[in-house]
Amino acid sequence: MIRLLFTSAALFAAVPVAMAANTTLPAAPAPVSTAALATAPTVPSAPKGAPAGAPTKLVEPHLHVLKAGKPAVRVALTFDACMGKTDMRILDTLINQQVPATIFVTARWLRTNPEALALMLAHPDLFELENHGLNHIPAVDRPTLVYGIPAAGSPDAVAREVQGGADAMLAHGIPKARWFRGATAKYDASAIAEIRALGFEVAGYSINGDSGASLPAAAVEKQYLSARDGDVLISHINQPTHASGEGVVKGILDMKAKGVQFVRLEDFAAKGDDNTTQQAAR
Ligand SMILES: [Zn+2]
Repeated sequence: MIRLLFTSAALFAAVPVAMAANTTLPAAPAPVSTAALATAPTVPSAPKGAPAGAPTKLVEPHLHVLKAGKPAVRVALTFDACMGKTDMRILDTLINQQVPATIFVTARWLRTNPEALALMLAHPDLFELENHGLNHIPAVDRPTLVYGIPAAGSPDAVAREVQGGADAMLAHGIPKARWFRGATAKYDASAIAEIRALGFEVAGYSINGDSGASLPAAAVEKQYLSARDGDVLISHINQPTHASGEGVVKGILDMKAKGVQFVRLEDFAAKGDDNTTQQAAR
């Protein structure tokens, strides 16, 4: 109970990118001591020349797709399916409007959303499914907290999170994943190198569409309308009761009316910073 209170408080202490999209906390990876939880910083950063054991420096990588060039505007919509349910307002809109998107799924979400998964798999022309991990645990290989959530905490635990997500996807009949995006979209450099060595590129983003499904609809719509050529948007497709989803729908319709060209990550060479992709961002 003490830990629950602590993590709840930490959750509200930071502006979440991806964690507010969760209705439940992920299962804590073993073993993380109570003392470590109590002393770890929420958003750590290491000073230059910091000794071993210093706070872990986390990065939140950017990602862009190849620009279309003026006057065209090419944008990749990405959605995280962290856990919980499916926002059918968004999924129906993508299908009805024939808008392609890249969906990052966890093993947890796959287990409880067979109908939504079947819909996505029935439209391979629209949906690219990629890896959001096994248990929605931040892919950081040292014990720390990210938005109050215990990170994987070791290279072995990062590997379990990444490979476990990929294996669950294959077991559900999804084509082999090429991209990984961890819970909270934050990593440390050594975890990024490990994920790359496991055969995945790490999917950042360039526009935060919904701040973890926490933004009101009008604010989400504004984020969508701010997209420029080459941008990669991140939003959530697992919060059907949040107002954010309404803004996502409006944003998609607005962009379509403006003639935006929607693409998936696999369609155009996507380039990220922080060594997240094979082709480095300029
Ligand atoms: Zn997530």
